[in-house]
Amino acid sequence: IETKLPKVGTTIFTVMSQLALEHKAVNLGQGFPDFEPPQALRDALARAMDEGRNQYAPMHGTAGLREQIALKTERLYGRKVDVDREITVTSGATEALFAAMAAVVRAGDEVIVFDPAYDSYEPAIELQGARAVHIPLTVSAFSIDWQRVRDAITPKTRMILVNSPHNPSGAVLSAGDLDELAAIVRDTAIVVLSDEVYEHIVYDGAQHQSVLRHPELAERSFVISSFGKTYHCTGWKVGYAIAPPALSAEFRKVHQYLTFCTFHPAQVAFAEFMASCPEHYLELPAFYQAKRDRFRALLAPSRLKLLDVPGGYFQLVDYSAIRDEDDVAFSRWLVEQGGVAGIPLTPFCETAPGTRLLRLCFAKSDATMEAGAERLCRL
Ligand code: PMP
Ligand code: GLN
Repeated sequence: IETKLPKVGTTIFTVMSQLALEHKAVNLGQGFPDFEPPQALRDALARAMDEGRNQYAPMHGTAGLREQIALKTERLYGRKVDVDREITVTSGATEALFAAMAAVVRAGDEVIVFDPAYDSYEPAIELQGARAVHIPLTVSAFSIDWQRVRDAITPKTRMILVNSPHNPSGAVLSAGDLDELAAIVRDTAIVVLSDEVYEHIVYDGAQHQSVLRHPELAERSFVISSFGKTYHCTGWKVGYAIAPPALSAEFRKVHQYLTFCTFHPAQVAFAEFMASCPEHYLELPAFYQAKRDRFRALLAPSRLKLLDVPGGYFQLVDYSAIRDEDDVAFSRWLVEQGGVAGIPLTPFCETAPGTRLLRLCFAKSDATMEAGAERLCRL
């Protein structure tokens, strides 16, 4: 058959996780915690199953979970969202991203993405018959050059996809960036898709600049988040989309036939846990900041150059003092010879960034970070 996705192979996350297993490497590649979700959350999940919440959930998500999401959104971002018409619970952020694109992007449209771009964006755009227009983020700061965005807008531009905190760099958007974005989309039909899965992981006292804080942008945006990142359970695959009623209505038409609904027991558990332990997400920045700082201290004696990490749970390292080769080759060498798996950036860029950077995940226990750092310091 003629493939619809000629550029897609096995994702770099799967490739590196397999290589890590094969070579018994310390896996700092694919982004997932190697520690467990809170005990009370796991207990709530078991209880939900024991209490018979095992059949289809309501299509948009349980009322209890949507209420908790609305409460959190108002508390953190000062925006009141309509529990019934503006929140849809999805099977991970991946589903939400896909459904948002399928809801509004048509064949022939253009979607602006910033490189490096998370790997699920482009195939989702292509499957709508649309085209991804790649704009590189600035070198080293990974910020958006808004003039390049203005220059890239055409009558076909249907969507701009932003991601803050950014995977893989950890860069965060500022309030000024949101104003720039608002000015660009004002008086156009462009929809904003804001991937905020690391919304609670922002460091050094900074505030996450959710698009939901910006009333003008919120009126034309899908905001996507993921419980997997916030509650250390990437395998449960629960996320959500917040969008104004008209956009949510279109989104739900897609969600209804993509999955219909999301794993019911987990929704019950998240609703209960969020109500009884709202401090979990408030404490998350300090929790991950301690990990970030520990990981950086462990790597200080190495020959790796550590880039700043304003958010997220990835550390970018410049390995050029160790080997002069491209990042895909280096990550292979590292997993085979150095015993550590990391993620190269080139697979997330339309054009190779030409840098010597590798992404290392620090959502790990002390023992894993120490084992990884010990090997990296030997290089
Ligand atoms: N967007 C970004 C930027 C991510 O890093 C991830 C997961 N690593 C996702 C979306 C997907 O989230 P989920 O696992 O909830 O589908
Ligand atoms: N999002 C995770 C990461 O960035 C991986 C998720 C996946 O494997 N699809 O590492």
